[in-house]
Amino acid sequence: MARKIKIAPSLLAADLARIGEQVALIESGGAEFIHLDVMDGHFAPNLTFGPAICAGIDKFSKIQIASHLMVTNPEQFIKPFADAGSDVIYFHAELDADLRALAQSIRSLGIKAGITLKTETPADVIAHLVGEIDDILVMTVPIGYSGQEFMAEPVRKIPELRKMFGEEIDIAVDGGIDMNTVRQVVEAGANVLIAGKGVFGERDPAAAVRQLRAAAERARKS
Ligand code: ZN
Repeated sequence: MARKIKIAPSLLAADLARIGEQVALIESGGAEFIHLDVMDGHFAPNLTFGPAICAGIDKFSKIQIASHLMVTNPEQFIKPFADAGSDVIYFHAELDADLRALAQSIRSLGIKAGITLKTETPADVIAHLVGEIDDILVMTVPIGYSGQEFMAEPVRKIPELRKMFGEEIDIAVDGGIDMNTVRQVVEAGANVLIAGKGVFGERDPAAAVRQLRAAAERARKS
C-alpha cells in the first residue's frame, strides 16, 4: 500500500508578519505539517528560524511541525527543536557526523527522524540507514532560499530510495513543488510534498493545499 499523501507548506514562503494566521490557513486546508527551514548561515547561506518560532507555532496550533535543520551542528539543536514541539526533525546526509547516532538521538526523544539529501548527493550514501530513519527528504533546489526553480534531476533518486527503504518510510520533496511539478514527484514515489510559493504564493493558501493533494492523488491513479 502506498504511503498517504501529506502536504507540508514551508513557512519560509509565508507572510512572516502573520505567522499564526498563515499556519491557521493551511491547517484549515488540511495540511499535515508546517515545514520549518532552519538555516544557520554556515551549512546554509541564509539565516532563518530558531526553536522559539517552533515553540510559538506549537503553542498556537495543533498542526505537526517538521523542522529541517540545515545547520553544521544538528546535535546541538535536536533537543531544543524537539522540546519546542517538532514532530519530525530532518538533518543532512552531507554532514561529517555519525548519521546513525543522530537519527537515534532524535528517535530517543519520541519523534521521527528524517535524513535530507542535497540535490547532488547520491541515494547510496544513506543505504546504511535502512531501518534507522522514518523519513527521507530529497531536495529539488539548492538549499538557502525560497522561490528557486525546481530541478528534475534529483527526482531520479526517488524510485531508488523507495526500492531501498520500502513503503515503511515517508519520502518528501522540497523545492519548487507546485501544480506543475507535483505529478512527476508523486509518480517517482514521493508522498510528502513540501511547498513554499506553491501554497503561500497563491491567493488562497487553504485552497492551494487541497488542490495539491487532489493533483497528487490523481497522479497516483493514472
Ligand atoms: Zn526544507
